Amino acid sequence: MFSTIAKKVREHQEQFPNAEIIRLGIGDVTLPLAPAVVSAMRQAVEEMGAGETFRGYGDEQGYDFLRQAIQGYYKGKNVSLDEQEIFISDGAKSDLGNILDIFEAENTVLIPNPVYPVYVDTNIMAGRKIIYMDGNEGNNFLPLPDESVKADIIYLCSPNNPTGALYNREQLECWVKYALSNGAVILFDSAYEIFIRSEGYPTSIYQIDGAKNCAIEFCSFSKTAGFTGTRCGYTIVPKELISDGVPLNRLWLRRQTTKFNGVPYIVQRGAEAVFSSAGQAQIRSSIEYYMQNARVISGVLSELGIWHTGGENAPYIWLKCPGGMSSWEFFDIMLEKAGVVGTPGAGFGDNGEGFFRLSAFGNSDSTALAMERIKSFAKSGL
Ligand code: PLP
Repeated sequence: MFSTIAKKVREHQEQFPNAEIIRLGIGDVTLPLAPAVVSAMRQAVEEMGAGETFRGYGDEQGYDFLRQAIQGYYKGKNVSLDEQEIFISDGAKSDLGNILDIFEAENTVLIPNPVYPVYVDTNIMAGRKIIYMDGNEGNNFLPLPDESVKADIIYLCSPNNPTGALYNREQLECWVKYALSNGAVILFDSAYEIFIRSEGYPTSIYQIDGAKNCAIEFCSFSKTAGFTGTRCGYTIVPKELISDGVPLNRLWLRRQTTKFNGVPYIVQRGAEAVFSSAGQAQIRSSIEYYMQNARVISGVLSELGIWHTGGENAPYIWLKCPGGMSSWEFFDIMLEKAGVVGTPGAGFGDNGEGFFRLSAFGNSDSTALAMERIKSFAKSGL
């Protein structure tokens, strides 16, 4: 999908060299790293350059200082974690792919549709049987368990990419209950947890009773703190989690110590600074900046009467293409008439057909301009 988007944009630019394209498609961040993070990394570079403080290979699971900072962050969510349950990685995408090493090839996986494509592609590469669960307007893109469907591994992403949908406590309780009664493991992707604004919604699966017996949680500093290019994330594998008689924490430790040699000290010091009080204030102000973009996008879509969801607890707005257009038809029109690039929903699975994702990660002026352009072309008739 992303190569087709790039090709279409290139062709448009060749045809209209003066057209200014605004990209609201990509899920990458645009704001720089927080000053607290930069300063911590600078100091870590100095340490690496001095004989007394130089460090070679680090702890495979991550340095204690970062794992303790994460432990403290979870304490703030009323979740108690043992340090040994926290594994530092170079990002959630790697771990989401690598985790499949500890499951049997015969396992059946249950994946929402539409969804972040990594879950599907990694399982296709591993030759696993995939069952899709329908996300649609009817269930607000939040599929719930169906007892007649049996699966060993379940992917949940909340807040969701691409739809921006957010599971509430009762819905997550249904999933935990289903996983416990079916002996299934939930792979819970909380990469966007920091965007949750609405009160009372779980920001970790472990806020649900029983989840430590059936869920692995993946999180990332990418969207939280602008680490998309710096690379750091973490995965939580509870000690209580036993699958087919095997403790998954020990199995994942073995996998990581065999195939992974850790995240750079400098990066882990930067990640630690995210949890300092200055770091938290700085990253939360960046999140607020993106969420203001989301409000601008959502406001214009509401004004135009275009059905959409997301944007309240996630940096993505998921809209229904007007006039029954397909995702790609709408993509072409947006590019030609407004010079705005979004992401066709069809790229996230069959159920994304007829929908379109706009991202709030852009620059605020460009986002406002993009929405003004959409407004004027929409008012002249879509
Ligand atoms: N999970 C979801 C749902 C994402 O949207 C992304 C990135 O866009 C990731 C994981 C990957 O994050 P990372 O940059 O930590 O690999």
